Amino acid sequence: MRMFNEKKRWFPVGLFLSMRIAFKNLFRPAITIRYPHVRAHIPERARWALEIKYAKDGTHRCTACKICEKECPNYLIDIDVETSPDRSKTIKHWLYRRGGCMMCGLCVEVCPFDAIKMGHSYELAHSNPDLLEYDLLTDTPAYKRPRPAPRAVVKPEAGSSTKTAVTTEPASPVSSEAGVAIGQVQQKEAGNA
Ligand code: SF4
Ligand code: SF4
Repeated sequence: MRMFNEKKRWFPVGLFLSMRIAFKNLFRPAITIRYPHVRAHIPERARWALEIKYAKDGTHRCTACKICEKECPNYLIDIDVETSPDRSKTIKHWLYRRGGCMMCGLCVEVCPFDAIKMGHSYELAHSNPDLLEYDLLTDTPAYKRPRPAPRAVVKPEAGSSTKTAVTTEPASPVSSEAGVAIGQVQQKEAGNA
């Protein structure tokens, strides 16, 4: 054992091993890039900082429902909304604290209106921590969902056993299939009377 240790100390095995690794890597293609002259290719599904999605006409789809705010595990989203007497909402602040964001994408997944996305810009470092908190929307009207078109409901006319009247009513919580079925039943009843 003593002999082996002495031999090992004398014979530069480690040097030859490291030289072998160096020569092997000498002929391999480089895996590093000359940043910032060369930019890395970011995969399509890579997740970076949170961004608001804008349509071509510059409108966003955030209704200020605050679901993303409730779902963020790190409590990084803070949405300040003002509701006017006519029930229209204004987003005063849509605060995003990027410094603590782990880019999990949960807020994007839970958004029912597809209003936010994980961006692709990966140069996010700042020496000033104040710049890691900012508003994605400020003093902006919240997106108003278009109301479904009123559906036609067939109702028997008052005082008449055969005549029916077609009226339009605003869509109710009843589904459209259920609404059609109700209309058919009402029509049958009118015919039987
Ligand atoms: S981003 Fe989506 S989930 Fe968050 S408040 Fe806006 S609409 Fe609601
Ligand atoms: S990506 Fe995750 S951690 Fe970042 S704001 Fe959204 S839910 Fe929060």
